[in-house]
Amino acid sequence: MNRIKCAFCKGTGKDPFDLLSQLAVCQVCKGTGRVEVVEPAIKCAFCKATGVYPAGARITCTVCNGKGMVTVKGTTKECPKCKGKGAAADSGLPCLKCGGKGVVKRSA
Ligand SMILES: [Zn+2]
Ligand SMILES: [Zn+2]
Ligand SMILES: [Zn+2]
Repeated sequence: MNRIKCAFCKGTGKDPFDLLSQLAVCQVCKGTGRVEVVEPAIKCAFCKATGVYPAGARITCTVCNGKGMVTVKGTTKECPKCKGKGAAADSGLPCLKCGGKGVVKRSA
């Protein structure tokens, strides 16, 4: 387990979009500015580690849940379907093969 800076609010603990109110706390880290990720973790390919869902939606990334990092276990390689981008080329949704992580398990 590793404590990292919350990607969604950039560690400020505040809701980056002021969706509820100026005083609203970040929904990802609950206002602490820090989130816990299970190691080993890599940068989320889908949101490019921003924690924000791409394509202008002001919601948390559904792949990393706003943390900006995703846990990957075992040996991995670049996802052949999205070429490591984490997003499906046609829909812009998280890649179905890798789930948006950009990497897939390397099969022996
Ligand atoms: Zn936060
Ligand atoms: Zn993400
Ligand atoms: Zn993929």
